[in-house]
Amino acid sequence: MPQTSVAQFASELRVPPSVLLEQLRAAGVEKRVAEDSLSEQDKARLLEYLRRSHGSTEAKNKITLTRKQTSEIKKADSTGKARTIQVEVRKKRVFVKRDPQELAAAATAAELPPPPPPPPPAVATADPRELQLREEEQRRQHQLSEIQAAELREKHERERREAEQRAAERAAPAPAPAATPPAKAAKDGTLHAPKAGEPKADKKAKKVKQTTILRDDTARRRTIKTRGDLGGGVGGWHGRGGGARHRQGAPAAGEATFAQPTEPVVREVAVPETITVGELAHRMSVKAVEVIKVLMKLGSMATINQVLDQETAMIVVQEMGHTAKAAKLEDPEAYLTDTEAHADAEALPRPPVVTVMGHVDHGKTSLLDYIRRTKVAAGEAGGITQHIGAYHVETPRGVITFLDTPGHEAFTAMRARGAKVTDIVVLVVAADDGAMPQTIEAIAHAKAAEVPLVVAINKIDKHEANPERVKQDLLQHGVVPEDLGGESPVVPVSAKTGAGIDALLEQILLQAEVQELTAPVDTPAKGVVVEARLDKGRGPVATLLVQAGTLRRGDVVVAGAVYGRVRAMLDENGKPVQSAGPSIPVEIQGLSDVPRAGEEVVVLADEKKAREVALFRQGKYREVKLSKQQATKLENMIAQMGEGGGGVSKTLALLIKADVQGSQEALAHALSRLSTEEVKVSVVHSGVGGITESDVNLALASRAVIVGFNTRADATARKLIESSGVDVRYYNVIYDAVEEVKAALGGLLAPERKESVIGMVDVRQVFRISKVGTVAGCYVQEGLVKRGVQVRVLRDNVVIHTGEIDTLKRFKDDVREVKAGFECGMSLKGFQDLKEGDQFEVFEVLEVARTL
Ligand code: GDP
Repeated sequence: MPQTSVAQFASELRVPPSVLLEQLRAAGVEKRVAEDSLSEQDKARLLEYLRRSHGSTEAKNKITLTRKQTSEIKKADSTGKARTIQVEVRKKRVFVKRDPQELAAAATAAELPPPPPPPPPAVATADPRELQLREEEQRRQHQLSEIQAAELREKHERERREAEQRAAERAAPAPAPAATPPAKAAKDGTLHAPKAGEPKADKKAKKVKQTTILRDDTARRRTIKTRGDLGGGVGGWHGRGGGARHRQGAPAAGEATFAQPTEPVVREVAVPETITVGELAHRMSVKAVEVIKVLMKLGSMATINQVLDQETAMIVVQEMGHTAKAAKLEDPEAYLTDTEAHADAEALPRPPVVTVMGHVDHGKTSLLDYIRRTKVAAGEAGGITQHIGAYHVETPRGVITFLDTPGHEAFTAMRARGAKVTDIVVLVVAADDGAMPQTIEAIAHAKAAEVPLVVAINKIDKHEANPERVKQDLLQHGVVPEDLGGESPVVPVSAKTGAGIDALLEQILLQAEVQELTAPVDTPAKGVVVEARLDKGRGPVATLLVQAGTLRRGDVVVAGAVYGRVRAMLDENGKPVQSAGPSIPVEIQGLSDVPRAGEEVVVLADEKKAREVALFRQGKYREVKLSKQQATKLENMIAQMGEGGGGVSKTLALLIKADVQGSQEALAHALSRLSTEEVKVSVVHSGVGGITESDVNLALASRAVIVGFNTRADATARKLIESSGVDVRYYNVIYDAVEEVKAALGGLLAPERKESVIGMVDVRQVFRISKVGTVAGCYVQEGLVKRGVQVRVLRDNVVIHTGEIDTLKRFKDDVREVKAGFECGMSLKGFQDLKEGDQFEVFEVLEVARTL
């Protein structure tokens, strides 16, 4: 057998030669330098010495084994989808069962430089037993240095188990939990059922119980991540009894107090559908880099701002030893604790909230101004009243609140966000003009929202006024005036002279009485954002309408995805107020950002919670929710139309935007003509230009499909389209639009879209190069651009050209594709008229079998 030198053997064992020399010396093998050779006998002595010093001669008890065990966990995620997670558990079995003497010896040995290895020859290791021995010794060496640390941990463990035991005793006198897998327990949040009839200890037991669970989880984590023994680990899973055999030295439950929090606190982390790495780290109170490390271990590289999906985030949370809780869609609402309070509080009558609608120039603004001027703020004579988007008037018969945002926009924006704000719609119709398109639209809106109408026939001071004609017009559109046996009060008024205004207010109050409007007063406020803006001096300013409860200065509110403390509160006259009850509008300052009109406002107990809810919602939650609620695919709508039944003809609502007036009219006409006996095509609105946010809101509120003809949605509208799921269809040939709608009406529409937009590119510079033509210096704003696809050139959101890409370059090189965030050079086939500020909509044409 060839002989090994000390140095060789040391390197084999991965210890410094000096250490090995020392150990050899201690074993009684006298070697002076690393070059000295080692005989088999020397090695055997060393091994013998090490065995002795490690406190046992029974090799089998001392072996440290690393086991890798792969298993699969099947679980359901928040969406209810079953998901299989591969779990690899590495367990290191560390023997710690020794008597105190041996322990002392081990400790002494551990104080020496890390202990040494066994002897077998390095090269001729044919004997598997020798191999095993050497392996054992290597491990043991490592183990030795860990033993002291283990002792310490053991101590904590002991204390922990004692605490658990005591908790267990308190919570349930007969623990015997061997059958309760803690995984389940942790999930259920209760390891032991609290014992009934122990009211005194109850509160405390609860607290302890929680600790128990948390610690339990810690044990599991250790098993996986650091160390722990196989038995102990299993014990950890199966109950406190199981692990005890490895910890015979542990004192029985008794004197020990709770361990210091030397172990990380286990948190229950609510994981929303999407979350950034940074935010996830924040929720676990760890540094983002820790999360990134875990992600790396899981095989994905991430940055702090990277957004993780819920499943990944939950795995990370569990991997870090915390409990992950999938935040459900309704979760933000779950934070809002006041619902019960609202239910309990006594509901008292509240003033009606009124919106004024009607055709342009029929006098909505004049009417609102007149009422405001004459009825609001007696005593503020001459003072410049500021406009806050809503005001309330006090009449001898009662209070009325007007939303001072005439037109359909505010109404539809609010309805689109699901807010029901308005109790009564005042429909203003000019006596000299009759029912006009927006009058009809307003009627449709009011009906769709199931809000009663009070008709104000305005401008009766004019000679041409013809209230009877207006009534006939209304009849034609399904509004039956009271004096003709219908339900809608009709009041002739003049916003100019003030004639009939008091009667109008009276009619409004009568309508309100019928509705028996009530709201609780003595609870935290709930309301809605009527309008909001950024004031240069005062920051975000929002007009809120309190719908229930009482809003007070100093309250913490969440308004949609923003939050804040009500620093200042003004009434409609700009006068500071301390509180506002139901149906009262106020302007508040102190929000973190500008909320959107129509967002709900809720008062919360503390600012931290408010912040959480707001952040939660910023995480696209609302959008997700909205889009789920309002997926309004053309097909769905048609299907729903069928459900109307009852002889009422079905209606397909369309909102048309076109590049020029000519095509708008042609399209509106052509599409309206598609109406049949059974299905009516109604054009809710049509106009010229890009598709705006307000168009999308209107489409949402009236459940209309948007038809874009050579025109596109602007950036804000695009966002809303994406989040709301409103159906938008683009065409550049009238025939196509007509055919598709026709097909849809006939139930023949192929569900797939014919094209899909894959990117948006901004033209930042334009170069004219002789021979080559026009080359655009571009920036890919969204998605990507690639060869072989088509682009549409948009100028001010209107399509001016559709065609193929000719060249696509990065610097000087032709490339296949360029992704968002990069610049590129592009030229188009057969189109030179490019301008700075143009946009390319990049799309692919999908082959779809048309069913016509
Ligand atoms: P809006 O577009 O519906 O808000 O209509 P406005 O309130 O701006 O009114 C349009 C025009 O009609 C303005 O020139 C008003 O002065 C006028 N107007 C409004 N109400 C009356 C009214 O009762 N009588 C007369 N003679 N003119 C009115």
